[in-house]
Amino acid sequence: MISGQSLYYRYPDGKGIEFPDFSFSQGSQWLILGPSGSGKTTLLQLLAGLRKPTKGTLTVDNKNITKFSGTELDAFRGGHIGLVFQKDYFVESLTVGDNLLLSQYLAKKEQSKKDCRAILDRLNLADKWGKKMSALSQGERQRISLARALVKSPKVLLADEPSSALDDGNTERVIELMKSQAAEIGASLIIVTHDQRLKDNFQAKIELT
Ligand code: ADP
Ligand code: MG
Repeated sequence: MISGQSLYYRYPDGKGIEFPDFSFSQGSQWLILGPSGSGKTTLLQLLAGLRKPTKGTLTVDNKNITKFSGTELDAFRGGHIGLVFQKDYFVESLTVGDNLLLSQYLAKKEQSKKDCRAILDRLNLADKWGKKMSALSQGERQRISLARALVKSPKVLLADEPSSALDDGNTERVIELMKSQAAEIGASLIIVTHDQRLKDNFQAKIELT
C-alpha cells in the first residue's frame, strides 16, 4: 500500500507543487496524467524516495518514508522500487546480461542468471543476453530497461513518460507489456505521462494540473 497525504514539494527558487491525496493498494495499476510542468517527474521521484517532500506524508507498507534517513531510503529504493525512465543509462561496455545482474547486485538482491534470462525471455529478448548494450536498437533498449527494473522483483514499478518516443503501435505494446509484467510479479504499476493516448489503458487515473 502506498498513500500520500497533503504532499507538497518546493524546489529551491521554484514554485511549490501541491499533490492530490492518493492511496494505491498493492498490485494496483495507476495512470497519473498531467501537462508538462505539472509535477509528474517530481511525484515519481518522491514515490521512489529520491526526493523528500517539503510537507506531507508518504506512507509505504505502513511506514512513513518521509522520516527515513538517507541509508534507509537507499535500502527502501533497492528493495521496493523498479524505475523505468524514458532515457535510460546502462553500462554500455557490458552485455545485456551483465547489466541485469548488476541491477540485482545494486539492489542487494541475490544474483540469478536464471531469473534474468527468464525475464528476457518473457520480453522476447532471450537472444540479447550476450549482446553489448551499444548493439541494441532504441526499442530494444527500452524493453531492456523494463527488464532491468523487473529483475529486482520490485513491489512497485514506476515509469516516467514511457511512451513519449513511441508510435501508436509500440505505445500499446509497451504499456500492455508493463501491465502484464507488473501483474506477473505482483508489483504495483504507476505510470506518469502527458500522453493522452494511454487514458483507455487504465481504469485508475489521477490528473495533475
Ligand atoms: P513534469 O514532469 O510534469 O513535466 P516536473 O515534475 O519535472 O513536471 O516539474 C514540476 C515543476 O517543478 C515545473 O515548474 C519545473 O519547472 C519545476 N522543476 C523541476 N525540476 C526542477 C529543479 N531541479 N529545480 C527547480 N525547479 C524544478
Ligand atoms: Mg517529467
